[in-house]
This record gives sequence, C-alpha cells and structure tokens, in this order.
Amino acid sequence: MQCVRCQSPDTKVIDSRIVEGGKVVRRRRQCQRCGIRFTTHERITDQPVLVVKKDGRKELFNRQKIVLGMLKACEKRPVSLEQVEAIAQEIEWEIRQRGSRQVSSREIGEMVMNRLLQMDDVAYIRFASVYQEFDSLRHFAQALSELQRKKAPHRLSKRKGRKKGSR
Ligand SMILES: [Zn+2]
Repeated sequence: MQCVRCQSPDTKVIDSRIVEGGKVVRRRRQCQRCGIRFTTHERITDQPVLVVKKDGRKELFNRQKIVLGMLKACEKRPVSLEQVEAIAQEIEWEIRQRGSRQVSSREIGEMVMNRLLQMDDVAYIRFASVYQEFDSLRHFAQALSELQRKKAPHRLSKRKGRKKGSR
C-alpha cells in the first residue's frame, strides 16, 4: 500500500480491524519514510476459494472450520471466542486478499499456528499435534523444540540490542 503523502511503498500496518460483518478490513498504516499515519478500507471479495487438502481433495473454504479447530486447541486456555473469530477472519482476509482461488490446507494450518504461537504456547502445541498428526513422542518433542526455536529469536535480538546500547 502506497503512502498517501510521499507515495513510498514502504508502509506498515499498525492496526487492522474487520468491519461490516467481515466484508471490509480497516487498517491504520504508517509510512516508514515520512511517518504519516492514514486509514485504508480494503474490501474483501467473496468469490469462492478452494482448499486443497493433503490427499489432494478439494473443498470450499469455510471459516467456521478454522474457528472450530482453534477452539479445540484453546479449550481452557486464556483465549476468548472473540479472539479466535478475529483470527479466523483475518486468515480468511489474508487468503482472499491474494486474489488466488485456491489455498492449501497446509498454508492455512501454518497461518493458524503462527498466530497461536504469539498467543498461547499450550494452544499452539495442541493445534500442532492435531494438524501435524503427531503419532509419537518424538514428533511431540520435535514440535516443542520448534516452539522454543521460534520463540528464541526474540530473546536473542533483545540481548543483542542491550549489548549495542551499553557500548
Ligand atoms: Zn510517506
């Protein structure tokens, strides 16, 4: 999205909200060059999207399925239904925004996992265990170390930042 003032293509989304019953996403953006903040309303098209499953079968994209999968993973966790629904809407929007009529179930699973990773470790592992079909303790251990690895860069970059600052 181009900056409304200086036309720089480098703008950052600082807030996004889905409005009008999921038809429009309202975004606050900030230009990384001149710093101006502006709001955009981006319309979601509702042409059908097909999900390609692991075995090659296709089915119509259904946001409710994402919600149900996440709710199972978030059972008894401090994640609300509203948060789950907002994530599912965002994922749907992200897919539709590409304009492609097809998406793989693997991609959807990864989008969900990326978001759960930032919200709740337990929900993340639960979702991963269903989605990646853990069939052994080894699988589970791999997912755990993956989780640690994904979380580690934040800590590393913080440490680096402190070192630089103390110089
Ligand atoms: Zn600008």
